[in-house]
Amino acid sequence: MSDCIFCKIVDNEIPAHKLYEDDLVLAFLDISPITKGHTLVIPKVHQESISALAPEYQARLIDVSSKIGKTFVRTQEYDGFNLHLNNGQCAGQVVPHVHMHVVPRIGTDGFHWNWRSLEYKENQIEVLITKFNEKFTT
Ligand code: 5GP
Ligand code: ZN
Repeated sequence: MSDCIFCKIVDNEIPAHKLYEDDLVLAFLDISPITKGHTLVIPKVHQESISALAPEYQARLIDVSSKIGKTFVRTQEYDGFNLHLNNGQCAGQVVPHVHMHVVPRIGTDGFHWNWRSLEYKENQIEVLITKFNEKFTT
């Protein structure tokens, strides 16, 4: 897609610090990292939503993302990693081209996800599961 910044990185029209590339995916350093090593893994085809991405791209995306996280741990500079994908503007997706964030972590890096802890009321769980089952397809 001509005006997509990540497609431009795939096409070498704008520079990026690339870590890995194969026939389906490309991994490069995030320009504004949460931790040093924060990497983005993207499909080499333009698609906004993970749900619309062909299965072989989805599979390669998760496989390469976990291998990149494992590689950072192997350097012995990190103890673990987060895999994080924002799907949709409401979920925090800014760049409309699927991307997995790989965030290498150590306990002392000072970053905390802003998690919260809600509680379900009355029959909310039963309603939620019923609605989910009505729409779920593999
Ligand atoms: P999102 O919020 O869409 O999940 O994350 C988009 C990510 O893309 C952000 O972490 C941002 O720093 C990164 N990003 C945006 N533009 C560029 C760019 O031109 N180059 C690189 N390497 N990363 C970018
Ligand atoms: Zn794109």
